[in-house]
Amino acid sequence: MFIHEYQAKSILLREDVPVPDGKLIETVNEADSVLNLLHFKNYVIKAQIHGGGRGKAGGIKIANSREEALESIISISGKRLITPQTGPSGRIVKKMLIEEKVNIIKEIYIAIAIDRKRFSPMVMVSPEGGIDIEKGKLFFEEEITSAVGLYPFQERRLAYSLGLEEKMNEFSGLLEKLYRIFIKYDSTLLEVNPLAIDKSGKFIALDAKISFDDNALFRQKEISGLYDPEELDPLEAEAYKESLNYVKMDGDIGCLVNGAGLAMATIDLIESYGGRVTNFLDVGGGASSEKIEKAIKILMKDRRMKVLLINIFGGILRCDRFAEGLVNGLRDKRIGIPVIIRFKGTMIEEGKRLIRDSGLNLIWEDSMEDSVRMALSYVYPDK
Ligand code: GDP
Ligand code: MN
Repeated sequence: MFIHEYQAKSILLREDVPVPDGKLIETVNEADSVLNLLHFKNYVIKAQIHGGGRGKAGGIKIANSREEALESIISISGKRLITPQTGPSGRIVKKMLIEEKVNIIKEIYIAIAIDRKRFSPMVMVSPEGGIDIEKGKLFFEEEITSAVGLYPFQERRLAYSLGLEEKMNEFSGLLEKLYRIFIKYDSTLLEVNPLAIDKSGKFIALDAKISFDDNALFRQKEISGLYDPEELDPLEAEAYKESLNYVKMDGDIGCLVNGAGLAMATIDLIESYGGRVTNFLDVGGGASSEKIEKAIKILMKDRRMKVLLINIFGGILRCDRFAEGLVNGLRDKRIGIPVIIRFKGTMIEEGKRLIRDSGLNLIWEDSMEDSVRMALSYVYPDK
């Protein structure tokens, strides 16, 4: 799970990691009154979207007066930001963080993440922090012994590699605070880029990104409350409310499946035949027919699909229950696109009968390969 920069900064602040002074605004209407509370000489206006790389996409603006700050807020608000981390459809800016501008002497990159190869946390730093970090080649890392944390010699080694030998103690203290946060909140990534050194020589976290382990959210009640459903696409948000897994992609073939494994196998097969999927909706294992009905209604709102492929293996989810939901979801609707169904498993005959009796015009296929080929023949007739 991701959170916004302003939320990540409030977590840093709790552990005494310095961040710039600032306030969040959620609408342009608040801008005037919030600016009245802030008496900064210079401002930084920062779009709050999930996805880094905002600086280069125009989502970070520096303003040298209150008037300029107001102009920047108006220009960023409602804007669609497309960055390498947002995907091609980008994100609409709704919330903005107004901060006091820091005079930067040096920008450092620092991140703590889980190293999946070593099964341990690790810390990574670069003296070339800032917006060009992707191009940076100069990285230093240390493996963290989770039961111990960073050893002092590792902290010193990192400080040296950053040219911070003068600030050894302060830097070690900062690393320890960041690691404490990382562990305490079950994070999978805690990234501060840039960590700035300001004119007075102090460290200050100018940007912060934290993501959390979804499997630990049950014991991180406060963190799960920070989730911002507005960051989801409207259909994704609707599916999220129904605890359905709907993932938006950008091809032509819609997929309705049960189970993540079957979803992956179906998508792989489609892609191996040269097709592209619009989305996939995984109704999960034990869905009720009402849930299936909602799932199909949500999926049919995705107007980009040229064909829908339903691939269901009825196990815990019985075929008759699925069929009931499907029929209710598609009833009274002009479907408008071909719907191909490959249907197997428990209570299959009852399921098929329910669908046939409903008069729905579906294209039946027996094997996964045939159903995928059939779907492709509608989208790419020349292939
Ligand atoms: P990102 O592009 O989404 O990672 O957004 P950041 O919050 O990292 O901001 C991008 C860049 O804007 C930073 O690398 C800084 O160079 C610059 N920036 C952000 N805040 C300040 C600030 O307070 N003062 C100055 N001078 N630059 C800032
Ligand atoms: Mn950044």
